[in-house]
Amino acid sequence: MNLNVLLLPGDGIGVEVTREAEKVLKQVAELYNHTLHLSEGLLGGIAIHQTGTPFPDSTRDLALAADATLMGAVGLPEFDNAAPEKRPERGLLGIRQALQVYANLRPVRSYAALIDSSPLKNHLVDGADMIIVRELTGGLYYGTPRGISGSGPEEKAVNTMVYTRAEIERVAHMAFQLAGKRRKKVTSVDKSNVLENSQLWRRVVVEVSLQYPGVALDHLLVDNCAMQLILNPKRFDVILTENMFGDILSDEGAVLAGSIGMLPSASIGARRPSGAWAGLYEPVHGSAPDIAGQNKANPLGAIGSVAAMLEYSFGLIDEAKAVNQAIESVLNSGEVTADLKPAGTPATTSQVGDAVCAALELTPARMV
Ligand code: NAD
Repeated sequence: MNLNVLLLPGDGIGVEVTREAEKVLKQVAELYNHTLHLSEGLLGGIAIHQTGTPFPDSTRDLALAADATLMGAVGLPEFDNAAPEKRPERGLLGIRQALQVYANLRPVRSYAALIDSSPLKNHLVDGADMIIVRELTGGLYYGTPRGISGSGPEEKAVNTMVYTRAEIERVAHMAFQLAGKRRKKVTSVDKSNVLENSQLWRRVVVEVSLQYPGVALDHLLVDNCAMQLILNPKRFDVILTENMFGDILSDEGAVLAGSIGMLPSASIGARRPSGAWAGLYEPVHGSAPDIAGQNKANPLGAIGSVAAMLEYSFGLIDEAKAVNQAIESVLNSGEVTADLKPAGTPATTSQVGDAVCAALELTPARMV
């Protein structure tokens, strides 16, 4: 198969973890006889430095031409006080919108080898396995009017939380379809006791659920969901929620997985004629300026994002399984970065990438 992939390393540790993900992708292509066509583009702070904008047209063109895009992370401290449209993070919103990837899938599971890395009690975390489906191209982050106006005591800031029925329906269908292949339960999260926006969300999700009689649906208010994720994470299978709630709740997933560096994500939208999803893949974490450039970052979230890409954009289930098995075997071996190893000598970012490549050669999935 031809794998036409765009790499957008971005800023900070985004660059370091993307290099390891690239190694793994090359290794998969070699072991399973696929032809890999890699291109590379600018996004975020580096793009501002080199072109004056966080999402240059050249990057848009490369992304639209690729089958799938693998991103690192964006964000540089020097832009922390810049206006929103001049910040690296605006590049993220730009590429998500250009690719029309309206659903962000964030699998969160506890790994046996990392159970002691979670601050939660083992019996609460052990066996937790969920996917958070976050709506990605609507809601408060995109709604208009937005902006800051006026001055003095009258200075005011406005953001708008807006969803259409169609936007809610398409992401709800995705959540129910995913749940149908898992433990058949969707938990829809909203704030319908306060927000009209959430009242529409809940009504439309209930209507969509009628088309999936084999999948159970329940609802949680977002504040209660934040609590239940910590108190009883095993109750969740698929969590369906809007953009900002999903952004916030999914970082709680890091507590279950042991480190934010472990979490992959897949942003998907329209289906291609082949049935595969057009997609954008990235670890959940940011550019981590505090550890950037030190070869310390955990690359497993980025490498897990490669597995998601193989599965959703290319339909390569065996290859995806092999990458996930290789990740698990590296975790079991204890060759992990400092975020997962409070005592003893941690591995470097590149050592972990090499270990995943070595484990891939041995993985039983390759025999399938
Ligand atoms: P962050 O995720 O970058 O870092 C939070 C903490 O987690 C830090 O202590 C960091 O060292 C640690 N961490 C993160 N990833 C890690 C990894 N792979 N291995 C080991 N430790 C890891 O979040 P932040 O500090 O709030 O944000 C830093 C910058 O990243 C900001 O500019 C922010 O806007 C940006 N950001 C970008 C994205 C993205 O590109 N998708 C997501 C979140 C934040």
